[in-house]
Formats: sequence, C-alpha cells, structure tokens
Amino acid sequence: MRYYSHSNDKITASFGDALLASLAPDGGLWMPREIPHFTQDQTAQMGAISFAECAALLARYFTEDKYSNEALREICLDAYDFDLPIRTLAGEYLDSATPEDMNDFMLELFHGPTLAFKDFAARFMGRAASHLMQATKEKRTILVATSGDTGGAIGDAFLNQDGIKVFILFPKGGVSKVQEQQLCTIGSANSNVKAIAIDGTFDDCQQIVKDAFADSKLEKDHNLMSANSINVGRVIPQSFYYFWTSLQVKAAYPNRPIVYSIPSGNLGNLTGGLIAKKMGAPIDRFVIGNNVNDPFVDYLKTGEYRPRPSVPTLSNAMDIGRPNNFPRILSLFDEDYETIRNICWGASYTDAETERHIRRVHTETGYVMCPHTAIGHMAMEEFTKDIDAPFTRITVATAHPAKFSNSVGRILHTAVPLPTALAKSVKKKKRVHVMPPTLVALENYLAMHS
Ligand SMILES: *Cc1c(COP(=O)(O)O)cnc(C)c1O
Repeated sequence: MRYYSHSNDKITASFGDALLASLAPDGGLWMPREIPHFTQDQTAQMGAISFAECAALLARYFTEDKYSNEALREICLDAYDFDLPIRTLAGEYLDSATPEDMNDFMLELFHGPTLAFKDFAARFMGRAASHLMQATKEKRTILVATSGDTGGAIGDAFLNQDGIKVFILFPKGGVSKVQEQQLCTIGSANSNVKAIAIDGTFDDCQQIVKDAFADSKLEKDHNLMSANSINVGRVIPQSFYYFWTSLQVKAAYPNRPIVYSIPSGNLGNLTGGLIAKKMGAPIDRFVIGNNVNDPFVDYLKTGEYRPRPSVPTLSNAMDIGRPNNFPRILSLFDEDYETIRNICWGASYTDAETERHIRRVHTETGYVMCPHTAIGHMAMEEFTKDIDAPFTRITVATAHPAKFSNSVGRILHTAVPLPTALAKSVKKKKRVHVMPPTLVALENYLAMHS
C-alpha cells in the first residue's frame, strides 16, 4: 500500500516511511492510496475470528513488505490483549441483550491500560514503529500534544522502548486531575517518557508541535516523529474496531441498519470509522457529537468550514477548534460535501446539557458516562428522534468515567471508583516540567534532554 499527501497526490511513501515521517514533505497528511474493499462473504469470515486476528488481517492491506503476516499477528495480539465490549446501558452484552426497535448499545473502547480508546491506536502504532526501528537501529524523538488521553496512551505504548524518547505536551490546567496524574507518572524519573505542562491551550500545544516539525534543523537534530492523529499510523488502526464490531452487531441484528455515534474532536476516530465503511463494514451512518468547539458539526450543517480558537469545556479531549483530520475526511470523499453530509450527521452540546445528560442516564439506568461519551450519546438520541424504522444504535464510549472522576463525581454527587491501574498512578509522585507556549522553550528543553 502506498500513501499519498492529501495536498499533492504525486508525493507518495510506504507505510513505514509515512509512519516515521508523520507529515509529507509538503506538509500534507498521508492518506492510504487504495482502501481495500471486502465482499459480504469475506466480511462474514472476518467477523467470525477474534478482534486481534481480524486487526492483523486488515493491517496487511495497509502496511507492506516490511511487516510479515506473522509480525502483524504478533503486533496485534500483543497490542489488543483487552476487551471491547458492546453493552446496553443496563449492562447486557450484545449476544444476550433483549431486542428492541432501536437497541441502544455502548461500544466501550476504554478497557485498555490508559482507559481511553486511544490505546487502540497508540499500542498498534508503538509496536509497528519499534518493529521498523529494530531493523534500522535508528533513534527517534516523539513529540505529542495532548488534550488529555493521547499523551497517556502514547507514553504507555512507547515506555522503555529502546531508541525512542517521548515528550508529552499538555495544556497546564487543561486536562482532568486524573489525566494529569497519569501523564506525569509514566515510568520513572530516568525513563524515556517526559511530561511538559504548557502555559497555554491545547491548540498552543498542537501549534508548537507543528512548528517543531516545520523547523527542519530541529527535526533533523532530534529525528522527530509525531504520534498525534496527524500520523497516519494512528488513524489506520482506528478503522479496525469499527470494522470488527459492526460485523458482530450485524450478526446479532442482520436486517437492521447500523448507526455509530462518535464524540469527536480532532476527528481521528471518525476518520477510522469512515475508512472501515469504505472497506465494506456494514455501517449506514455516523452521528458526530461535538461540544461547543464544533467546527465540524457546523460544517455538516452549513457546508462551511470555519476553524476557530478552542474554548475549555468539561469534555476537554474534544476542545479542538481546528480538527487535524478534517482534510483527511475531505480527501476520502473527494471534497464532496453532499456525500459527506449523507453519511455524517452532527449536533453539538454545552456543558450544562452534558451534565444534565450524565445525571439523567445515571438516574434512569445506573450507567455512568464520561463527559465525552455523554455528548455522543446525546447526539444519538437527537438523531433517533427523526427515525421510525428499527435500527441499531452504537455510541462509542471513548473513556472510562473514572478518568474524569472530578467532574463526574461532582455531577452525580457520588464518588466514581478508580480502576486498579488508575488507583496506582494516583499514588505516584508527579514529574512535570512547566514551559511557556513557545518553540524556543521546547527547543532548549529538547537540547537538555538529548
Ligand atoms: C481523543 C478523545 C476524543 C476525540 O477523538 P478524536 O479522534 O480527536 O475526534 C473523544 N473522547 C475522548 C475521551 C478522547 O480521549
């Protein structure tokens, strides 16, 4: 599989080069040239094997000779050693749920080590990158801007990997307490993962990372690599779980259309879903939930794309005013607004609406949602109002509510118990460097730590 630059399709690269280079030489985002398409017979077979096995099969089409089938299988089995349950709000699993006209399922993607869906992409990417680097003995510096969950997932996925240093930039005071604790306690004082609190917003963090990559001397000196969703190695594995879970749902409810709702920020998760659909996954529609940072929902409603500075909200991982993956979505559909609008429907919500929803769902069902997931679920409910034929609803639950125990605990007037992995990190002492939002400051820090 070759990859091309979204801004100039004559610029191409292999998967390995696209993964390590992050951005195309012209600054464009790498896109897969030919997305494989599977027939119904093929997809039925792929739905019958385990998720990790299915991911390994799909990965073959997106990588190339540098990865043997055996290597991909090892990568996926090792990366995906946790569950991705599809459950109702009452806690019934897909195969034993009571059929209703519009079953309301949650796809819980938060059972990985850092309790957010970003583990799916980070763990594949980390293993895929280190597989390449073992062969070349190169050294790399990963810069990752995070609004909360990416940094933890990437730090965890790359911890103690030889030849790789990871610098995580997060907005000071702009992530949840638990997220900050997680980010600042990865590994030990001497390990290869460092957390940096930027005196600014997530957009500032993202901008500094972009500026660092645009500075060719800095890029060369440190052999920089991005682990943000600008990296195509993050986006591809996010198609795997849509592909496989939609097949599970189709097998359980064969005659019903399937709609996924995705709480979205940088649109990487949605891009994964759209790629899965192109591969033949039986998905009819995507519903997109935004918080008040809603340039994509605005685009779906008006056809106009107006990026803007982000404002902080309860669902901080979606506080994004200029979604990284918007150009990828345009490119997937040849910039055809009508096609995009036929596949995607969106709505945006305030913090007050989010709080009310978390409270109502908890009162009615006992299910506790994180603020991001709540936005996806609200959007699904609003979408459902206009439809009377039966279909299957799947809301993507992107993070464990305990990651946002401060806000969720306040909203529900009850403590959200921390899973074991989190409880451990809460006890550790934080290690973090605070920095102004400038490239110069980052440059100095990198020089000190190289
Ligand atoms: C990253 C994140 C999102 C947004 O995903 P995108 O791929 O950036 O659209 C939503 N919810 C949570 C919990 C996240 O960590």
